[in-house]
Amino acid sequence: MNGEKKPYDCLIVGAGLTGATIAERLTSAGKRCLVLEKRGHVAGNAYDEIVDGIRVHRCGAHIFHTSDRKVWDYLRRFTEFNSYIHSVVANYRGEIYNLPFNMNTFSRLWGVATPEQARAELERQRVKYDHEPRDLEEQALSLAGRDIYEKLIRGYTEKQWGRKCSELPAFLIRRLPFRFCYDNRYFDDPWQGLPADGYTALIERMLENIEVRLGVDYLSDRAAWDALAETVVYTGMIDAFFDNSEGKLAYRTLRFEDERLEVANYQGATVVNYTDTETPFTRIVEHKHFERGGQAHTIITREYPAEWKPGAEPYYPVNDAKNTELAEKYREKSKTLRNVYFCGRLAEYKYMDMDKAAASALELAERLAGG
Ligand code: UDP
Repeated sequence: MNGEKKPYDCLIVGAGLTGATIAERLTSAGKRCLVLEKRGHVAGNAYDEIVDGIRVHRCGAHIFHTSDRKVWDYLRRFTEFNSYIHSVVANYRGEIYNLPFNMNTFSRLWGVATPEQARAELERQRVKYDHEPRDLEEQALSLAGRDIYEKLIRGYTEKQWGRKCSELPAFLIRRLPFRFCYDNRYFDDPWQGLPADGYTALIERMLENIEVRLGVDYLSDRAAWDALAETVVYTGMIDAFFDNSEGKLAYRTLRFEDERLEVANYQGATVVNYTDTETPFTRIVEHKHFERGGQAHTIITREYPAEWKPGAEPYYPVNDAKNTELAEKYREKSKTLRNVYFCGRLAEYKYMDMDKAAASALELAERLAGG
């Protein structure tokens, strides 16, 4: 056997956007790829399917948005994107506000009409620190002031992460734009939309003509799979790859509660965030609004965040101080391995949007294709 070529150049573990991008790029560079996927379907957490005539995002709303032309051009080889522009409504104890924070929000909160009035009120409410914000609470209070923090940030964030805002990193809240115009677009990126016939179809097209095995848990039979390929690209949880040798990393999971309702329009928006502490879910997605569906019925999904436990699907890495440090140990460990690469939200333990995951995958594929 020694010196003999293995049947595959690359084994890719995970058939989400990251795994599919790597598999597609390497295959088109002439490499023989095998993709393993633990679940019974491709597309990872972007998985969607038609239910009663409505496309349902099975694992939470996924809205594609990017400023990265390379990623945008790459994905458009496999799909068209529709012209959906995301905006979000917040419900705080029955009070309705537009997100992200903008003049519509300020005007509703304080009765102000002009940017100057809004800035003056914010200035009055902002907490001034004599140091850089050290955590999400300080970041939010110094950026957005008391009212916004209490009504629109604290409850939602603490439910989403299961931790106090004072224990969370400031960067989480910097993901949201803050603007002084009447503009409810959730993302600032120049390109956004949803794949015209869904994410599942997009990923399936990327994986066309590539061998994919579904329902296969790589980690339970690792040696046998490794023997088949020269290189492994792993997109799963990095701590699980190392048998939790340094300790378990925390992840957040989501529980989804779907409901079909015999009304044409339940909430008038794709996403309504429930930003109080008492409501146990963080948001309700009404899927038909992604595509302006004209059905007489609707499907909604309530989203309940929870701490990840084995058996659940991990969705978010928890980038608090403890886990960030632990992830760094695993990262160092991963560098000592030859011919094994880690890529994606779970393997890099990084809160990346889809476009960042695709960019990271394109970069790795370029490196590997050359080798
Ligand atoms: N956020 C918030 N209030 C909201 C929506 C978001 O405070 O109504 C903050 C919160 O800290 C959260 C971050 O913005 O962790 C990103 O939230 P988003 O829901 O956009 O993230 P996603 O889960 O969609 O990746």
